[in-house]
Amino acid sequence: MRSHPLIIANWKMHHGMSDTIKFCTELSRSALPTDVDVAICPPFTVLYTLSVVLGDDSLIAMGAQNCHFEDHGAYTGEVSPLFLKEMSCRYVIVGHSERRQYFAESNSFIGKKIQKLLELDMQPVFCIGETLTERQSEQTFGVLEKQLKEAFAEVQADKAQLKNIVIAYEPVWAIGTGVTATPAQAQEVHAWIRQWLVKQFGSDLSQSLKIIYGGSVKPDNAKELMSQADIDGALVGGASLRSKDFCAIIHNSKR
Ligand code: PEP
Repeated sequence: MRSHPLIIANWKMHHGMSDTIKFCTELSRSALPTDVDVAICPPFTVLYTLSVVLGDDSLIAMGAQNCHFEDHGAYTGEVSPLFLKEMSCRYVIVGHSERRQYFAESNSFIGKKIQKLLELDMQPVFCIGETLTERQSEQTFGVLEKQLKEAFAEVQADKAQLKNIVIAYEPVWAIGTGVTATPAQAQEVHAWIRQWLVKQFGSDLSQSLKIIYGGSVKPDNAKELMSQADIDGALVGGASLRSKDFCAIIHNSKR
């Protein structure tokens, strides 16, 4: 039997304190299904606000959008994974294409974060994806393989820890553009990722790892995307900023 779909909101650099409170107040007016796992990754500065507004018994988990791989140190402006653990963050997005593009994050740097998060019993949401030029020149699988290989080279976790990894396939050409990969395009890549994981870690582990899709997911395309055999959920940017849309995506993801 398939596990619950996992829907994660990536608020990026949106929603300060008052918007966070407004969003949660609106969301609390609608009942969310219990068979969909939901998480919100807000800016660091509102993690505490979010935890208070959601409350201790919330079905919605919290996550962060980035972290460093060291516990402490002279890294001005960075956030330790220990601090996120202390805030009860369950997920941390790593390797988002915006971090790769604007902050020059390399695959091995991302791999070090994955290793640290697994050591701390947190769930890295490891983003991979090709650009439009790479897709058009038929390099998609080569690019994804390099991203996976170089990041996993930094990971020495055991199988019990590895199953906490969530892989997010986010074609860069579909992020924030309104252009979504068709369900068939997304499924093709997810099935390829699953096979890559089988070769590396065996079939048991690869079946239990969640592979989620990100790139212009909206209420009206969520259902078809989520019905694909290897799509286990969604990482949602723009549409997760509006409580009504986010709620509709969650409902439409039910299997
Ligand atoms: C994202 O940034 O992770 C994302 C998927 O954004 P959007 O849904 O806006 O394409």
